Amino acid sequence: MSAIVVHGIGALCTCDPLRGEAPGVVRDAALVARDGIIVYAGPEAGLDRSDIPRRALEVHARGAAVMPGFVDAHTHIVWLGDRGDEYAHRASGATDEEIAAGGGGIRATVRATAAGTVEDLAAAGREKALRMLANGTTTVEVKSGYGLEHDAEMRQLDAADQLRRWRDLPDVVATYLPLHATPDGPRDAYLDDVCTRGVDGAAGRATFVDAYCEAGAYSVVECERLFTAAAAHRLRPKIHAEQRSHSGGALLAAQVGAVSADHLEHATNTDLEALSKAGVVGVILPGASLVLGGPPPPGRRLLDAGCTVAVATDCNPGTCYSESMPLMVALAVALGGLTPAQALVAATAGGAAALGLADRGILRAGMRCDAVILRAPSWIDVGYHLGGDIVGSVILEGRLAVPSKA
Ligand SMILES: [Zn+2]
Repeated sequence: MSAIVVHGIGALCTCDPLRGEAPGVVRDAALVARDGIIVYAGPEAGLDRSDIPRRALEVHARGAAVMPGFVDAHTHIVWLGDRGDEYAHRASGATDEEIAAGGGGIRATVRATAAGTVEDLAAAGREKALRMLANGTTTVEVKSGYGLEHDAEMRQLDAADQLRRWRDLPDVVATYLPLHATPDGPRDAYLDDVCTRGVDGAAGRATFVDAYCEAGAYSVVECERLFTAAAAHRLRPKIHAEQRSHSGGALLAAQVGAVSADHLEHATNTDLEALSKAGVVGVILPGASLVLGGPPPPGRRLLDAGCTVAVATDCNPGTCYSESMPLMVALAVALGGLTPAQALVAATAGGAAALGLADRGILRAGMRCDAVILRAPSWIDVGYHLGGDIVGSVILEGRLAVPSKA
């Protein structure tokens, strides 16, 4: 049996809608967990000493704010290779076409990643996952998508499974993303393979299936074909939609009952209303929006349409190399029009919703005890203190995974 109690919490930011106005703050609070599950989250004055398990690890927050661990619901962290030069070339004025002609872009990542062993891929993913944990992330979604060939895609999913088994990392949810870049060989043959061997192989390895619905990538018809094949294997759809142009992916997400539609910068209000009606979570990726330019992430517009919103890093080697959810909270406010409270909920409870996980993202008795002790008395500092190294300690499933830095 393991147990932990956090005393002296100045502001317990529960992100619990049952606690009233977001983000559901309880002052002068305590948090108690047994075997990874929260048994008490409320006012310290209401905590009976007999409720604290014997031999519990006692942690004192010294008046700091405590919040749920971040749930990063959209990442591509299992990659090999380095595209720093490409980043510099783009900043010097090179176009995507010039970079692609020079062998760069997503194809450079596919070349490096597809050749990797499961061990290589897991080691590369581990580095990023450790940085995520240090930044307060306790659950991370990990996509394949840099294989573009059956065995290489399966190796990426097996690496994600290895990450999930390492108990010193954030919990991992795997997503099969076979329709990402376009294949070198015949397109139809690749789609046939993905819709037969691919979904069959992914069924035991991944929770979700995903596709990049975009001009120059995959059409609505191709994405729908994948989702239909995947449904027979109980792989729920997610989709990269309306990122660089209006592709029709958002309406497809509503039609097939996707768990989430991600990016959405070019989505119309009609698209967002359809997502809301269908109960599809809108995932904004403000780091990628910042790097690529173009329309802002539609955080405010999604909320106005009645959608649940999640914010995630999109951590990837091309358009957003960041493991930092606190930075994404800041960008969701600065670019996406969310209030600090809405952004914090989107990065925790919203992320959990985007992964179909009802057991985390909120600090409440009965939920997984994933929590962050901040290095500040106010949760507002998560977005306000830009790049401020705000995360002190991290509690992962009731264990002190990152001790205090302060
Ligand atoms: Zn992505």
